[in-house]
Amino acid sequence: MGVRSGRRGIAGSVSALRRALLAWHDRNRRDLPWRTDRDPYRVWVAEVMLQQTRIAVVEPAYARFLAAFPTMERLAAAREDDVLALWSGLGYYARARSLHRAAGVLVRSGRVFPRDYGEARELPGVGAYTAAAVLSIAYGEPHAAVDGNVIRVLSRLRRLDRPDASGEPHTALATELLSPRRAGDWNEAIMELGETVCTPANPRCPDCPISLYCEAYRFGVVERHPPPKRRRATERVSATMLVLRDGTNGVVLEQGAFRYLPDMWLPVLVADEATRPEDRVGEIRHAITHRSFRIRVIARQANPRGLAALVRRVGESSERRVFSQVELSRIGRSSLLRKALEV
Ligand code: SF4
Repeated sequence: MGVRSGRRGIAGSVSALRRALLAWHDRNRRDLPWRTDRDPYRVWVAEVMLQQTRIAVVEPAYARFLAAFPTMERLAAAREDDVLALWSGLGYYARARSLHRAAGVLVRSGRVFPRDYGEARELPGVGAYTAAAVLSIAYGEPHAAVDGNVIRVLSRLRRLDRPDASGEPHTALATELLSPRRAGDWNEAIMELGETVCTPANPRCPDCPISLYCEAYRFGVVERHPPPKRRRATERVSATMLVLRDGTNGVVLEQGAFRYLPDMWLPVLVADEATRPEDRVGEIRHAITHRSFRIRVIARQANPRGLAALVRRVGESSERRVFSQVELSRIGRSSLLRKALEV
């Protein structure tokens, strides 16, 4: 699929391409708070936050989080609710839970973030991208970090389709191009190019430092790479949830019963026919990736101890608690919970 050239030509163009991109990065590197030092813990927190979240949203959250948990020991010793509260606004709370658990694993075994790729991958929530990003940026280890921005740049550079389930051929190409001496800078540079120049729409090819090596640009087919994702059909899910408030304005929430969002504290899942004439009833809509939820919300004032008698349970809950208003403001509230409480 790539443009054919001799072995020496390929090797020569790879090192020229590396030099061009690194020189561009050295000139244009953005001054971001997680780039002030290469402490593995701080790099790790930033990389976890940056997954699926924009830099502008991450910047203030990163500052708040590190002010509260400046070291891995402080994070490991924190209560999960406090960690989630500081994750508020970033979404995808499973990331925060895994980060907290992994910090606990490392602190209990007296280790820092491992330098070994296999060891890093054994930590909760540390996938191929996070391991490669932290090892390369914090320790200079030669691992290519491949995120959505890198996939787009590589697809255009060599006119590739989307990667398969194992990430190929993009991971192999990213590893081939990686600068062995400046692995962390290289990973940051190619990600930044994808974010600021080789953007999904209207890439700025004339300003691109590696346009000379880009096949899609040379052949005028930039907009064809990578080809659009095949859209998965949206699954529609209906459910009924009960917002049960007690006399002191506490609210009963449960975790684990709604199988689509098992990590979230949510109102109590009940059978559809659980409504009583005196209940206030509303409806909320919520969408995540390939699911669209239509949730009927029943609001009821009652003694939470009588809950079992009031509702016929639909699912098995792993945990259920009464949250006071103060506690509610401390936990990381999902937007689904916020909408349900507004009803
Ligand atoms: S030349 Fe254009 S398409 Fe190719 S890498 Fe640069 S910005 Fe992307």
